[in-house]
Amino acid sequence: MIVIENVAIATVDEAGTEYPNGHVVIGDDGRIAAVGNGKYPDKADKVDGAGCLLTPGLINTHHHLYQWATRGLALDETLFGWLTTLYPIWGRLDAEIVGAAAGAGLGWLALSGCTTSMDHHYVFPRDGGDVLEAEIRAAQRIGLRFHPTRGSMDLSRKDGGLPPDHLVEETDEALAATEAAVDRWHDPSPDAMLQIAVAPCSPFSVTTRLMEEAAVLARRKGVRLHTHLAETDDEEEFCLKQFGCTPVEYADRVGWLGDDVWLAHGVHLDDAAIARLGATGTGVAHCPSSNARLGTGAARVRELLDHRVPVGLGVDGAASQEVSHLGAELRQALYTARQRGGPKAMNAREALRLGTIGGARLLGRQDHLGSIEVGKLADLVLWRLDGLGHEGIDDRVAALVFGPPARVELALVGGRPVVERGELVNADEETLTSEARRAHRRLLKTA
Ligand SMILES: [Zn+2]
Repeated sequence: MIVIENVAIATVDEAGTEYPNGHVVIGDDGRIAAVGNGKYPDKADKVDGAGCLLTPGLINTHHHLYQWATRGLALDETLFGWLTTLYPIWGRLDAEIVGAAAGAGLGWLALSGCTTSMDHHYVFPRDGGDVLEAEIRAAQRIGLRFHPTRGSMDLSRKDGGLPPDHLVEETDEALAATEAAVDRWHDPSPDAMLQIAVAPCSPFSVTTRLMEEAAVLARRKGVRLHTHLAETDDEEEFCLKQFGCTPVEYADRVGWLGDDVWLAHGVHLDDAAIARLGATGTGVAHCPSSNARLGTGAARVRELLDHRVPVGLGVDGAASQEVSHLGAELRQALYTARQRGGPKAMNAREALRLGTIGGARLLGRQDHLGSIEVGKLADLVLWRLDGLGHEGIDDRVAALVFGPPARVELALVGGRPVVERGELVNADEETLTSEARRAHRRLLKTA
């Protein structure tokens, strides 16, 4: 049993309960046994949370971990220009490079307050080995809860798509590999550390048949669906030209709207699209830093929330936003909403909600993750807020969101520590850095 006490707590439960000076008790089953005001009377093993804020662990709902090996490239490109620059490099990925990139990316996420991450992997070079297994091993090494997706692309340039011909799979081959990944890795249990979702890449890199059959496959297997949608004007133009409809109308047509689906970005949405997402319970992974880095626009988050669209946060791949810091994404989400809709468009608590329970909902884990409530899994983050960067901002949630990225004093996944005093518990940051450096140089052929 672990007790954290003498700490400010933002539970992010339905009522938004907060304790200015409270305690949380974690049972031996890795779940929260008690939460409340004041000290915990028992003489258990205690963690003193003085100067800190305890929140649910942050949940990252969109990422491409392999991109850690290609950061800092195509810095001033549009999405399509950026992709066509990077596709040839990604064609040389292998399991060793993906494992090193995923170790670095997940280690960095843990240090930024993330306890659960998804990954969207859709590049499977023929002689690259088992890249999905490589990133799963990386997540086990860091200790994060992991929701990788088996992505896919089957629409290349010769058929009117964007990726080069050698980078895509055959449709049936992609579907079979996706089913095999679900059979091999997906754990449906409530305490699962590993769940798989089905994730064809985007309208401009995937055939209509793959979209339709992927949805049928996911529903037959009882797993979730993810893809990129409505990220740029170029994508909208592509859909209007190829399919004669908007991206959301296309998603509707191929069976891709529903409460088992979450879409990355959702930047270019008209009123009808937002209403349709809300009516169907289709989620959106909001990636404000990536959208800013690629200059794709600012998502209409206020309107999405007002239409009851489930929204979570994502850092997106490290090649399209080199910060990749989920804690910093809280502030970026708030700023993005306010740049569109003024200072009332989002407050600090709404931003924290997106990064926690909002993300849990997108991954279908809201009954077990995303808030500090008795019976939920003890995925928690203790943020240090008594240093120069935060002291004096009396509202602790405001200090976390409006202030600079806070140091993670302790991060727990199912009650097990993954970060302590700003350092990884299960892996060494220097080793991860040198492995990532080697992977980057080998991929770029500079070593
Ligand atoms: Zn993405």
